[in-house]
Amino acid sequence: MPPHPSMTQASNDKSKGHAIALFSGGLDSALAIMLMLKQNIRVTALTFMTHFGCDLSDRSSCGSDPYPMAEKFGFDVKLMHLGQKFIDIVENPRYGRGKNMNVCTDCRILMLTEARKFMEIVKADFVVTGEVLGQRPMSQVRNKLNLTEKQSGLRGRLLRPLSAKLCRPTQPELSGMVDREQLEAIQGRGRKRQLEMAAEFGLEDYPTPASGCLLTDVGYSNRLRDLLAHTERLSFDDLNLLKVGRHFRLDKNTKIVVGRNQADNEKIMSCRRPHHVYLEALGVGSPVTLLIGDATEENVRKAATITARYCAAKRMPQVEITAREEQRELKLVVEPARDVDLSYIAVN
Ligand code: SF4
Repeated sequence: MPPHPSMTQASNDKSKGHAIALFSGGLDSALAIMLMLKQNIRVTALTFMTHFGCDLSDRSSCGSDPYPMAEKFGFDVKLMHLGQKFIDIVENPRYGRGKNMNVCTDCRILMLTEARKFMEIVKADFVVTGEVLGQRPMSQVRNKLNLTEKQSGLRGRLLRPLSAKLCRPTQPELSGMVDREQLEAIQGRGRKRQLEMAAEFGLEDYPTPASGCLLTDVGYSNRLRDLLAHTERLSFDDLNLLKVGRHFRLDKNTKIVVGRNQADNEKIMSCRRPHHVYLEALGVGSPVTLLIGDATEENVRKAATITARYCAAKRMPQVEITAREEQRELKLVVEPARDVDLSYIAVN
């Protein structure tokens, strides 16, 4: 279905104002943008990426590819990677964590702060989000919405069009740039009104609401918690490795990552550095195991038994495992580890 004629980007000269929108590619942020385009407000959408999902290269994330919708409705999208700034809040969240390792309040403040800075640079008028009052317990209750508005420096310039009629009027509404009457009063977790609006605007192919980024995942959170307990600063390699394989902690300095499949093995090898020892059973289907930390004789042997446990020869009494470092190669003949022993050191 083609977009409603009123739903395409106003040309710069005709627009009544310029909004910077947080855009995940999901339905709510798309509807917030539609409500602005309908009022002849020019929109520049920002899609944020992090190492924890909400990332175009990672479909486990909050949103989805923003480009098809932007192209269809004719608004601009800019990608912004939050990189180290996001890692800093994951290490030390000011406003605590959710059920798992998610830092939703700090995350929203960071994204809104970056949006404000961008708004100031391009001399836009205000910021728009698809947040809905009461939709998410941690980040979208009224006091959290007020907090994120204040802490991001956006007081009065943060418009949440889907719940606007339930919130204080913002500057663009007070100045008449945006007609408050044409905004919405949606509250809670229901999707009925959003689905009606999607049909009205000709919005199709929007993703079903996702539960959040990788920080909301129990297994990922367990691995991250373990990493934070044993590392002073998170590195990009550390974080990339958390997304793959089975993780086992051998001692306070040492962990291993064991590939579950070929894709994991390739990712593990791409994160390997020259000083790392890696192990595999040659000649049979085998995981690649990366040893990170102290490559003592005991740890290499333990890693070999675990590699043997997950290779295709796991039912053999003994398996030959090859351990390699940059210049060295070692052959070890080991018994595959027993599941009962692994359960004590698994970090999953
Ligand atoms: S789930 Fe929370 S921490 Fe993760 S991206 Fe969404 S708001 Fe941010």
